[in-house]
Amino acid sequence: MIHIHYFTFSPFAENTYILWDETKETVIIDPGCLAQYEKEELADFIADNQLTVKHLLQTHTHLDHVFGSAFVKRKFGVKMLMHKNELPILSNVESRCNMWGIKGYEPVEADGFINEGDIIKFGNSELEILFVPGHAPGHIAFVNHDQKFVIGGDVLFRGSIGRYDFPLCSYTDLMNSIQTKFMTLDDDYKVHPGHNEPTTIGLERRTNPYLNQ
Ligand SMILES: [Zn+2]
Repeated sequence: MIHIHYFTFSPFAENTYILWDETKETVIIDPGCLAQYEKEELADFIADNQLTVKHLLQTHTHLDHVFGSAFVKRKFGVKMLMHKNELPILSNVESRCNMWGIKGYEPVEADGFINEGDIIKFGNSELEILFVPGHAPGHIAFVNHDQKFVIGGDVLFRGSIGRYDFPLCSYTDLMNSIQTKFMTLDDDYKVHPGHNEPTTIGLERRTNPYLNQ
């Protein structure tokens, strides 16, 4: 049984996910902790619950999703895994932080690449990878079919969809990813997004204005 906890970090209100099971093995997804106290909050949660971090995973590498990635790699001695199409996004994070006047970002590099169909294992649990480009060129999502949830990043939100006005975004790819990878899941799949509260595939199928034009 996978437990899911999330923190909402930084001025961008980014959701950082911590998943673990009965073995206490853990994955951290999109660590957006920027301030020192946010990094301590994350580390304290791991320590207090006696969790063992196995992987650092990135749905994508926009700045708000990687603020704390270097810290997590160093603190827990884990590798950062992402899709290789994110390389041009990740390499641009430092200059975008400078543009936005954001201080405290520590540059980070990927340690390995993952792609659609790959399985991430931790403890007795598995996450399957979906390739869902559009909001970012190498955006991926993590699905668990036993418990019917998706850690979805910035693809589908409650009543909205990911932005498609950033460099290297594609509206066509985004809509195709949503329709072919998310909306083909059953209604009772829960979606845990990169911002704001969770939703379900069924709720979005019925009410999301971007999907019902
Ligand atoms: Zn993003």
